[in-house]
Amino acid sequence: MADEIVDATVSCAACEAACCRDVGDGTALVSADDLVRWRRQGREDILASLVPGHFSQQGFGTHANGTCLHLGTAGRPNDCSIYDTRGEACHALVPGTQQCLSYRRSYFARQAR
Ligand code: SF4
Ligand code: SF4
Repeated sequence: MADEIVDATVSCAACEAACCRDVGDGTALVSADDLVRWRRQGREDILASLVPGHFSQQGFGTHANGTCLHLGTAGRPNDCSIYDTRGEACHALVPGTQQCLSYRRSYFARQAR
């Protein structure tokens, strides 16, 4: 069942990409279909950025602070640089759902420390 929106006031535009930060190597998993698509698109850069993840899958690599390697474009630090072909799991994360709110709680709690 899809994760339901529990807070419709939450917007990615007003977020700091909490779900793409402090996620850790291989935590943001990619699917088999993602791999096929990136191979078809010749996105060797994305394929080369992957690291072993949970459940024998692959996931996005991260910087030392745990932020996804693909976060940030010129002048827009909270934008995904591969947005048009981002992973299915990234695509499926809907703002305002429990999963989104969980990322936001963790991220903003760390910021408050
Ligand atoms: S999905 Fe949620 S945590 Fe991710 S950028 Fe949007 S509002 Fe922030
Ligand atoms: S690929 Fe893009 S949307 Fe997915 S975790 Fe990385 S920066 Fe976020």
